[in-house]
Amino acid sequence: MNHKVSEVIDAYKSYLDYLKGIGIEAFPIARTPEGKDSRSSSPTLKNVREELGDCKRCKLHQTRRTIVFGEGNEKAPLMFIGEGPGYDEDVQGRPFVGRAGQLLTKIIQSIELERDEVYITNIVKCRPPQNRTPEADEILACQPFLLRQIEVIRPKMICCLGAVAAQSLLQTAQKITALRGRVFDFHGIRVIPTYHPAFLLRNPERKKEVWEDMKQIAAWLKEFGVSV
Ligand code: URA
Repeated sequence: MNHKVSEVIDAYKSYLDYLKGIGIEAFPIARTPEGKDSRSSSPTLKNVREELGDCKRCKLHQTRRTIVFGEGNEKAPLMFIGEGPGYDEDVQGRPFVGRAGQLLTKIIQSIELERDEVYITNIVKCRPPQNRTPEADEILACQPFLLRQIEVIRPKMICCLGAVAAQSLLQTAQKITALRGRVFDFHGIRVIPTYHPAFLLRNPERKKEVWEDMKQIAAWLKEFGVSV
């Protein structure tokens, strides 16, 4: 197993052990049979953002300019999760606004949706120096906030963009080429791993596979009664 990924998995396991130790046995994404919130007061994305605060939980805070929390519709049926902010995102404080982001916008529009109808975020909320891959401790420090975002939004589907997003969310070391084209379950949410738009910029011939994934997502959204 890839060393970094096994570190993330080990860290994740000890986090789950910690949660168990304090009496949390299940991931708190729960729906009543009517699809309503089972808790009396639901947190909002604003609450999660406030909790994150001026985060210094990992070393990325030393080099970041801005925390890129995420943006889009709090009730989005579809959520996109990328790896981490790059230069443009760090400057603007918004996810996927650089070249890869422009391609992501086109990918979203390819199924007749706009960016403000979905929710877009990243595994880590701060730019890793020189756009390096986020490290295990950074992914782990950010993970509770991603889980809270998912919990608040409760999307029907999550599209993981690239290996880091798919491997971190699904806790697997499998390659993106092995994950893409399959569907996974994350606490009742369908997870569709696909290629990262930055990869597509370097390998445009792989766009057709992403197009297949988007067609599948559009079909499922229709099944769920979401008009696309
Ligand atoms: N790449 C990512 O993974 N996320 C962004 O927000 C931008 C580029």
